[in-house]
Amino acid sequence: MNTTLEVTGQCHCGAISFTALVDPSKVLVCHCADCQQFSGAPFRAVLPTPAEQVQVSGQPRHYIKVAASGNRRAQAFCPECGTHLYGTEPDQPKTMNLRLGCVKERAQLAPSVQIWGQSAMPWLAQMHGKPVHGQGLASPLMTSAV
Ligand SMILES: [Zn+2]
Ligand SMILES: [Zn+2]
Repeated sequence: MNTTLEVTGQCHCGAISFTALVDPSKVLVCHCADCQQFSGAPFRAVLPTPAEQVQVSGQPRHYIKVAASGNRRAQAFCPECGTHLYGTEPDQPKTMNLRLGCVKERAQLAPSVQIWGQSAMPWLAQMHGKPVHGQGLASPLMTSAV
């Protein structure tokens, strides 16, 4: 059974784009402190994909993150607009963890698992049931829960 999906993605300014053949069952949410800091968000959603199934056009910049374990990861981002694109092995890319936020088809790619729950924001569960505006604060509240 073929469960792959072809996706496209790009940074905010469009200087870097990619196409990838992904496995939608692999999407995960990471609550680690690094993901929180890099993304500026309470957690990050990523789509681990074999590097040979990803075609990148444009020149991302790499920031090499060194973990406490000594493990090195390249964090690829657009040097123009700063959008985070993927993380991968710095020397011989094997797996690219595509950042779900820059994947166009992200609404179809629900995460199936979460990692680093020990550093997850304790208030995430409380978001359910809070008021939700359709757009900005001046826009109407949505009636269906988000
Ligand atoms: Zn850009
Ligand atoms: Zn993480």
